[in-house]
Amino acid sequence: MKTKVIKLNPKKPEVSKIKEAAEIIKSGGLVAFPTETVYGLGANALDDDAVKKIFLAKGRPQDNPLIVHVSNINQIDSLVSLIPENAKKLMKKFWPGPLTIIMEKSSKVPSAVTCGLDSVAIRMPKYKIALDLISQSKCPIAAPSANLSGKPSPTIAEHVIDDMSGRIDCIIDGGDVHIGLESTVIDLTHTPALILRPGKITKKQIEKIIPVEEHKHENIDKPKSPGMKYKHYSPKAKIIIVESEKELKDVSKKNSSKKIKQLRYLTKTSMAKKMFRDFREADKQGFDLIIVKSVADKEFGRAIMDRLKKASGS
Ligand code: AMP
Ligand code: MG
Repeated sequence: MKTKVIKLNPKKPEVSKIKEAAEIIKSGGLVAFPTETVYGLGANALDDDAVKKIFLAKGRPQDNPLIVHVSNINQIDSLVSLIPENAKKLMKKFWPGPLTIIMEKSSKVPSAVTCGLDSVAIRMPKYKIALDLISQSKCPIAAPSANLSGKPSPTIAEHVIDDMSGRIDCIIDGGDVHIGLESTVIDLTHTPALILRPGKITKKQIEKIIPVEEHKHENIDKPKSPGMKYKHYSPKAKIIIVESEKELKDVSKKNSSKKIKQLRYLTKTSMAKKMFRDFREADKQGFDLIIVKSVADKEFGRAIMDRLKKASGS
């Protein structure tokens, strides 16, 4: 399959180019597109066959459900059996934005999207290209991150081209993404609500709106969020996490026979935005070991450390 790359202005997406990509979604094809979190790999969420192609293109396990993206709050009426009051409060505060909300699904959502679960994960992204693509396609778009399963999520179009060229119909190049880590996932089918995946929107921010707890990873074979049990975000190089400059130097010295990439960041924002990109670049440059200086495991740092620990296999 030949993959078409369409370059778009992220601030003012050209209408004719959005329409071209939307036609592919409408006809059951796959389009990768940028959101404020990471690049997504999209298909018509109401088309069972189209959704199945996402799993094939990514090599994604059949029991890891997808997030459905909407451009308009009214679109969720047909996707869920009921909109809980807490969902309304969260949407009002955080949508469009990096918060995915899990609710009881309606019969309209194909089981390929939810992998047979009774619940569906929904998000309204903030990025204009994503919103325009969804509204022009005239359907909700199911989209996981646009990487091969297991690899770090793509934060620039080049990563998607590296992983998906020849496997999907179209890639929209809309430049780099703002956040660089996947959305916060919150499960409202559970009382109190549970954060299944930490992200840019923190527990502290959510607590101001509704009661919420963090999911503890005590049962990895039967996790609340099926995606939790898989190896994620991993470069080929081994990753070691260190806490200080001194430790970074010591670990580097101990491994001096290896080709080492040291990663340290000035802020959490820059770490989130650059980490996955740096993992991919380290692989391209043939490093065997990546040593990363950690950040405090709280607030947005919690999301960063979650991805970093998973990438390092710890
Ligand atoms: P990604 O593939 O990176 O976009 O991740 C999507 C995440 O949302 C994965 O961790 C999924 O397991 C999770 N997810 C999607 N739908 C559901 C659902 N109905 N219940 C629990 N987790 C879900
Ligand atoms: Mg993913």
